[in-house]
Amino acid sequence: MTISASFDTSSYIFECCCGERFNNIGAASVCKKCRNYSVWGYTKYVVNILTEEVVHGEMPTDEEYAAAEAAAEIRWAEEAREFEDWKATPQATSRESARAHERCLQEQADAEEDILWDEQERLSR
Ligand SMILES: [Zn+2]
Repeated sequence: MTISASFDTSSYIFECCCGERFNNIGAASVCKKCRNYSVWGYTKYVVNILTEEVVHGEMPTDEEYAAAEAAAEIRWAEEAREFEDWKATPQATSRESARAHERCLQEQADAEEDILWDEQERLSR
């Protein structure tokens, strides 16, 4: 297999289950984003995107994925509810909840930005 010379991110070939790319397996196998963004809640597998070889963990079957996804939806719904509860609590000052709050605000801001971009694109047509 030949690697295209124009592939400018050629060293970032290790992709974890949340889709983040790393230049080494070690970093990919402990991806922090997987904890929040993958249905597994951890780095289930890392794939070398050039060879499509699983270099860490195990590639799940469709059934396993479906089960993990269902579990994640329950977990995420639970977290969202906890956040709603937290927002209703005036003394929500612990560092942990402040971080969660920050993350949530950031996601909200990102979403709003996306809407803005869409709107601008629509207007420019
Ligand atoms: Zn990840």
